Amino acid sequence: MFRVLEKASAKINLSLDVLYKRDDGYHEVEMVMTTVDLADRIELVELSVDDIRIASRNRYVPDDQRNLAYQAARLLKDKFGIKKGVRITIDKVIPVAAGLAGGSSDAAATLRGLNRLWNLGLTLDELAELGASIGSDVSFCVYGGTAIARGRGEKIEHIPSPPSCWVVLAKPVIGVSTADVYKNLVLDNIEHPNTTAIVKAIREEDFEGVCNNLGNVLETVTLNAHPEVLVIKEQMKKFGADAVLMSGSGPTVFGLVSHDSRMHRVYNGLKGFCDQVFAVRLLGERNELD
Ligand code: ATP
Repeated sequence: MFRVLEKASAKINLSLDVLYKRDDGYHEVEMVMTTVDLADRIELVELSVDDIRIASRNRYVPDDQRNLAYQAARLLKDKFGIKKGVRITIDKVIPVAAGLAGGSSDAAATLRGLNRLWNLGLTLDELAELGASIGSDVSFCVYGGTAIARGRGEKIEHIPSPPSCWVVLAKPVIGVSTADVYKNLVLDNIEHPNTTAIVKAIREEDFEGVCNNLGNVLETVTLNAHPEVLVIKEQMKKFGADAVLMSGSGPTVFGLVSHDSRMHRVYNGLKGFCDQVFAVRLLGERNELD
């Protein structure tokens, strides 16, 4: 096999809680993550030279060792003594620096794809464990589906998918640095989301319960720095989304919408004053090794 294609799906956080700051400097988190049907396409092609090359038409995607997909390939090459080269072409669809784990998902897809291209025979659990050293969201992205992520985000507990609905995503032009948002988070005065309640609602297929228990402790930090995010939230509610939240460290805002007709209203309403707007479905299934 000389060429492998992988889909790298975006995630949203239905809830994101920070429990405390650890002695190692990381934040202990508890997040409910789920994949949505918005994806980059990753093509992996064997090279005749021993090198890792990144190709992408998106000018915000680094083409060197800063790219998380590059780091995924480097990790496998070093760990398993692979002497072959690979060209990684990233067809970028997920907005960059948006709170949708685009880079992490590219890294995860590269791990899954190279496992096939180089016949490494690793399980998803092994790939997820390796991925944790690249970034906190990579482990979840290796599996996809829906999960509670704890620790730095690398301890994954799979849960069923939320009730099916539309997800309208809207990203303002700004990009947000996750590290800066965490730096500006004041742990003493945060309102913690009720993770137990949202997980219960997901398990009971209670769409209203999911909507009522969305929560993200990073939201106020990003809203204070970028008031335009609040404007998008208000617009989404006004146009009829059932529930609205910022994903990850932002600035992307997502709205859950149960009815098709209202999805069109929310999408068209946002399209007028936001450059990147998508209407996608929640993705229920987890990734599998083929
Ligand atoms: P998260 O939700 O995990 O915090 P994010 O969606 O906010 O991630 P990314 O899209 O992953 O953020 O990009 C953050 C930064 O990572 C970018 O500014 C970019 O320089 C760098 N980066 C590295 N690899 C990639 C990649 N494959 N795609 C996009 N950005 C990448």
